[in-house]
Amino acid sequence: MAENPYEMALEQLNKSARILNLDPNLHEMLKYPKRVLSVFVPVRMDDGSVKVFKGFRSQHNDALGPFKGGIRYHPNVSIEEVMALSIWMTWKCSVANLPYGGAKGGVICNPKEMSIGEIERLSRGYFAAISGIIGPERDIPAGDVNTSGREMAWFMDEYSKLKGFNVPGTVTGKPVAIGGSEGRIEATGKGVSISGREAAKKLGIELRKADIVVQGAGNVGYWSAKCMSEYGCKITAMSDSKGGIYNPNGLNIDHVVQFKEKTGSVAGFPDTKQITNEELLELKCDVLIPSALENQITAKNAHRIKARLVLEGANGPTTPEADEILHHSGIMVVPDILANAGGVSVSYFEWVQNLQNYYWTKEEVNDKLDRLLVKAFNNVYDTYLKYKVDMRMAAYICAINRVTEAMKLRGWR
Ligand code: GLU
Repeated sequence: MAENPYEMALEQLNKSARILNLDPNLHEMLKYPKRVLSVFVPVRMDDGSVKVFKGFRSQHNDALGPFKGGIRYHPNVSIEEVMALSIWMTWKCSVANLPYGGAKGGVICNPKEMSIGEIERLSRGYFAAISGIIGPERDIPAGDVNTSGREMAWFMDEYSKLKGFNVPGTVTGKPVAIGGSEGRIEATGKGVSISGREAAKKLGIELRKADIVVQGAGNVGYWSAKCMSEYGCKITAMSDSKGGIYNPNGLNIDHVVQFKEKTGSVAGFPDTKQITNEELLELKCDVLIPSALENQITAKNAHRIKARLVLEGANGPTTPEADEILHHSGIMVVPDILANAGGVSVSYFEWVQNLQNYYWTKEEVNDKLDRLLVKAFNNVYDTYLKYKVDMRMAAYICAINRVTEAMKLRGWR
């Protein structure tokens, strides 16, 4: 049973290696990150005491270009989780055809219990601690769970101070005023909806009549719900870490999010049935969008999933055992490395704009994103038909082929 995300990432790699008949030397190299840096960051807390936080940066593979991947703040961050997430970033960048390798960072902390000043001091301390292996040509972090434009601005500022000049291209997901890209905030959710639109076409799901259930109400959950509702879908349920809400007649996403901003949770939103996160996943719907954390659809609940299509807004929400169950039940899963690749794709656009010092309009960004993701989706879908595997394996086949081609050309074997 693969509940540890690193074991999960290895199981997925091993399964694809069998299908691809992958060279054992390349396979062996892909199991491990190139480097994992652990740092201990002392932070002056508001009460005057010093607390030391533990953080990581895992750099998996850079055959295709500099390392790329977000940084998360969460009490459950662990070295294994960050390693797994860095492996998934390698595949994600490869599937999206970006010139990047994969990395991920994380700090063990609970930002919900910290003041803004404490979060700022932690962010600056962590970034300074990993700065030796970061940079626009080396490794370009971005946001992830519990980090957003605010933290990216501090990261960019801290790095620029260390260098003595502005280095906007060292991190993506920055606010637009300091070199962020138009369209980056909504990019992951927009990407989820684009892959949903393409998958719905293949499955014959009419989006104007579709019921959608979204787990998570962070950046990805909110924007996925919002973009799906722009296609005419009805969002019947949403949730966050405190619980979920359900209304078969549909939710007004903006009202739900305003309510969350006021009260701290979507739970308690008027005129809805209060449900748990577990119940939410098992609701009858056309499309289920898990956009929270790993390990949500497992061998325990997979046979109770009633959606026709699952779009993975989160990274690693479905375990390999659950994948098999869903596949046998005829439920299509558009895997994380494809479904949520819109975020890193617009991160790539942001980095390109930073390096050129020439900025694009929102229309240009959205148009480029749509074309990039449709191409990636069709590439994976063709592989799915050709190899008769599930969509995750098809995405892995595409991703691994591109990475291993680069590794072989560079003589890494
Ligand atoms: N954290 C996001 C992801 O998992 C974005 C990464 C990035 O933009 O570099 O894809």
